[in-house]
Amino acid sequence: TSALNAPEMLTILGGGLVGSLLGLYLARHGHIVELFERRPDIRKAGPVEGRSINLALSDRGWRALEGVGIAEAVREVAIPMHGRMMHDTHGGLTFQPYGQAGQSIYSVSRAGLNRRMLDLVEQEPGIRLYFNQQCRRVDLKRQELELLDTATQQSRVVPYQRLFGVDGAFSAVRSALQRTDRFNYSQEFLDYGYKELTIEAAPDGQWPIEKNALHIWPRGQYMMIALPNLDGSFNCTLFFPYEGPDSFATLQTPEQVQAFFERVFPDAVPLMPNLQTEFFENPTSSLVTIRCFPWAVQDQVLLLGDAAHAIVPFYGQGMNAGFEDCTILNELLHRHGHNWEKVFQEFEDSRKPNTDAMASLAVYNFQEMRDRVADPRFLLQKKIESKLSAQYPDKWLPLYSQVTFSSLPYAEALANGQAQERIMQRLMPHIQTEDDFQRPEVQQLVAAEMAQRP
Ligand code: FAD
Repeated sequence: TSALNAPEMLTILGGGLVGSLLGLYLARHGHIVELFERRPDIRKAGPVEGRSINLALSDRGWRALEGVGIAEAVREVAIPMHGRMMHDTHGGLTFQPYGQAGQSIYSVSRAGLNRRMLDLVEQEPGIRLYFNQQCRRVDLKRQELELLDTATQQSRVVPYQRLFGVDGAFSAVRSALQRTDRFNYSQEFLDYGYKELTIEAAPDGQWPIEKNALHIWPRGQYMMIALPNLDGSFNCTLFFPYEGPDSFATLQTPEQVQAFFERVFPDAVPLMPNLQTEFFENPTSSLVTIRCFPWAVQDQVLLLGDAAHAIVPFYGQGMNAGFEDCTILNELLHRHGHNWEKVFQEFEDSRKPNTDAMASLAVYNFQEMRDRVADPRFLLQKKIESKLSAQYPDKWLPLYSQVTFSSLPYAEALANGQAQERIMQRLMPHIQTEDDFQRPEVQQLVAAEMAQRP
């Protein structure tokens, strides 16, 4: 190592999913990393959190985990979901595969993944991990953090040379940046909240509904989804308006909740014995998109993960995008070594348009999931698209696959997806059934459209 590439002291605030992965990447570049996390060590809490909350992990996330050699360990506890299983109001099922055969997204436990990553962080030489450290204030001028030890209630001031703010959607590092000149910031809440509920495992410990699918109960203005856990249960999330005719505001008593669920989710209710308790004990949480820029202060501070770009969860990409931040930062560190200013600047310039695109895609997908997937014409369009993609694999990849099963920059995926949607709008009026795709006049139209594509 030349003097230019001597190890440096780096500081990470936030030991969530992205912060711990970032720690591993930075340490592998030979740096000494100090990581401060507000919560106590979740590994010592034991399996007490009753609720198991899970996330969908897809290709971008896997790629980032592979980069530090931990994908295999995670795969062992991940459940593949091959497609969406839609439940109608009579309990009827429709399955829609996510991609080609063999392509799946994976249900992983948030706490399990976080624990696994903290184990790896702790084993990594060069990383020092501190829990119960709540950052109260960041002084950008003096390059100092004020940390409150929540166990002892003692505050102290810790200097930093280079600070990575991975402290989530309500980032303390970002709030310091917000007070600097020409810092752009916006936060936008949906009129919807979400509540987590549980489908219990069958008495024999098996999965009472299809294990290898992401279940959706699409109901137009709202929906419920369910992802499988290893123990046979499912973690459900109800995405529901705060106000209006069917809304959190109108479900005030256990009887109202029960009657509502029996009316709109009749096949799920018998599998949710604790519905009434959970509905009133579990919080109603809000859904926000946060955009900001710049993410860097010279060569001193950089925001990553939700701290830089929090998105709504409907594409299952928030964590995947944060993990991909680590992949991209890693590539830039390989390219520019310790020229941190250049690394930070290229990171924010190249990444910002992509996370903005992902934020828009995530909002769009809510409508698709809660409403369009219940429409037979929409499902027919998806089948036709999949035929198109099979016939022209070099020219056509469905938008969902570009986002989920590729590492194409999100902004390119969005632009391609919009162009493809315009073509589908021209083709679909000529198509009434799946077989119509083979009709000569349809094939002629398809050929003409494809001739114009790069
Ligand atoms: P966080 O996970 O929020 O971690 C931030 C860490 O910083 C925390 O550990 C916190 O304790 C710590 N911290 C915060 N403030 C301070 C402070 N002042 N001092 C010290 N430490 C601090 N993404 C997917 O890819 N797939 C999904 O299926 C998916 N589903 C989701 C479902 C829901 C309902 C929601 C809300 C999100 C979902 N996401 C999903 C998004 C995903 O949860 C986030 O994108 C991801 O957790 C971001 O990771 P992060 O490390 O940047 O932030």
